[in-house]
Amino acid sequence: MPDFDDLLPAETVSPEATIALGRRLAEHLEPGDVLALIGDLGAGKTHLVKGICAGLGVPIETITSPTFTIANEYTGAAGPVYHLDAYRIERPEEFFELGYETYFFGDGLCLIEWPERVAALIPEEAILLRLTHGSGDTRRIEQVEIG
Ligand code: ADP
Ligand code: MG
Repeated sequence: MPDFDDLLPAETVSPEATIALGRRLAEHLEPGDVLALIGDLGAGKTHLVKGICAGLGVPIETITSPTFTIANEYTGAAGPVYHLDAYRIERPEEFFELGYETYFFGDGLCLIEWPERVAALIPEEAILLRLTHGSGDTRRIEQVEIG
């Protein structure tokens, strides 16, 4: 379990600051980790993922929201990085068909937005972060317990 104690909770004041935070979080993540990001639309989940992926050596301009594709796969310096967005998942079967085992139990790092949509399938060991809107462009990012 990575230790984010020196980084979280955090409050960012711009999209760029959330990306910068993601870069720093990336230093604490390892292949095989599952990082689940909960938060409303526009809370900054995808920006945080961009920062994490960029921190892992993925060219930032190639990182896009997988809202429609459900899963994007990147190659980071330490191996595959899976970026999932379960927002449009309506039935668990859709997630099975994607081959979710590779994402959750393979050797890559898995970052998943809207984990609530597939809550029953999220591994127990997953790290859960919650992003919340503050006033204006502020966003709070904190680690929370599963359950
Ligand atoms: P999500 O994936 O949670 O739906 P996105 O990262 O796609 O959110 O979008 C966040 C939106 O909020 C973007 O339009 C971004 O410009 C805006 N924004 C404003 N302030 C922030 C902030 N501090 N961190 C992240 N995004 C911010
Ligand atoms: Mg998103």
